[in-house]
Amino acid sequence: TSAGSVEDLDRQYFFHPFTNAKDHEKTGPLTMVSGRGSTLTDTHGREYLDAMAGLWCVNIGYGNEEMADALAEQTRKLAYYHTFAGMGNEPVARLAHRLITDAPGSMAKVFFGNSGSDANDTQVKLVWYYNNVLGRPEKKKIISRERGYHGVTVMSGSLCGLPGMHTGFDLPLPMVRFARAPHFRFEGEDGETEEQFVARLARELDELIVAEGPETVAAFIAEPLQAAGGVIVPPATYFPAIQEVLRRHDVLLIADEVVCGFGRTGEWFGSTTFGVEPDLMTVAKGITSAYVPLSACLVSEAVWDVIASGSEKYGLFSHGYTYSAHPLAATAAMTNLDIIERDGLMGQAKARGDHLITRLRSAFEGHPLVAEVRGHGLVAAVELAESLDPLRRFEPRGKLSGALVARARELGVITRALPNADTISFSPPFVVTEDELDQMVAGTRQALDDVSREFGL
Ligand code: PLP
Repeated sequence: TSAGSVEDLDRQYFFHPFTNAKDHEKTGPLTMVSGRGSTLTDTHGREYLDAMAGLWCVNIGYGNEEMADALAEQTRKLAYYHTFAGMGNEPVARLAHRLITDAPGSMAKVFFGNSGSDANDTQVKLVWYYNNVLGRPEKKKIISRERGYHGVTVMSGSLCGLPGMHTGFDLPLPMVRFARAPHFRFEGEDGETEEQFVARLARELDELIVAEGPETVAAFIAEPLQAAGGVIVPPATYFPAIQEVLRRHDVLLIADEVVCGFGRTGEWFGSTTFGVEPDLMTVAKGITSAYVPLSACLVSEAVWDVIASGSEKYGLFSHGYTYSAHPLAATAAMTNLDIIERDGLMGQAKARGDHLITRLRSAFEGHPLVAEVRGHGLVAAVELAESLDPLRRFEPRGKLSGALVARARELGVITRALPNADTISFSPPFVVTEDELDQMVAGTRQALDDVSREFGL
């Protein structure tokens, strides 16, 4: 075949995720070829500041030499061997120990996968298996939350509380239910205090579980901070109140730490930041800073004891991937965690997050097109005044936020328009400098001025 440009080949053959096929035929891809720190370079040599660390994940920044060396060394030593039927490898045993040591609560075991989506699927299988071992096969429903994002596999996609994730796919699966998101400004009622709001959410959850029958509800899944659903920071009292309800009905809590985990909130886990005490914990993204795909399900002692006893009934926990506990992924995770700890990047994330939110507030608050600036740690958002309840008002969906992000990209700043939320998100690498943050904020503000002029707003 005669080779066209990379862009031509892409347009013709590459089926992109989350991409409108018709638009893509016209505009084609933006193809990145290299990265350093927070800066990406495309095929035309243009540079961009990446205010999203890829998809909330390249926490140590692009082009890390120490990581490249560690991966090269492990590739030469042992790039792959499987872990079925009791086989192991060195990096993953060390990583499992480290994750359990660092995790909140009394976590006992780690199961490895390749993505946040497959890990949340595994969590559901773990929960179902757990209840089967306990002889209560009817206890299978999973409660998720509106605006939650948990991935795209058949089950994880079902757990997403963003309706767009279900359309065209006959989802959600019938055993999934949804609770309200803990966003006071979206969901609070007139005259309600934040305290009353939290009490209402706990009461609603209780009513939902009672209506379904507690003997049918297995688990509740939640991101400590809802990321893709709009960077929704929960009230401090929310998780303790919710947990009390879950414990009363013997419902397990799965914390989806895929975005929060390993420093994004300024602490090692979002669960610690927001008072979550998980029975099961999902991590991915930041565990390797996305240098190699890896996810993990952390299982508490109490849950593990039941699962381990399942071998009497079922022989095996018949689940696992060819690439479960891949040695290169485990090496990437160990190296990534070493770098974050040694270089104090978690503390740096917190300090840079403070700088970012201060700058975002002074650039955007009070602007007639801005509804709210919010964030926690090194994750932040500017919500546009385009909608007050985005989940219930779809059309026109994200027109302004989409245009803003496109314009910012022309100006060399990559942010993200969150689906359904009319919100621009920021989640830069932990190594971002204050000067780079200032440029990200200035570029985004310039973009808002440009598009509001263009739309005659
Ligand atoms: N859970 C959360 C909270 C996420 O933000 C994501 C991805 O953005 C996922 C799960 C799915 O992870 P993956 O895309 O690796 O399957």
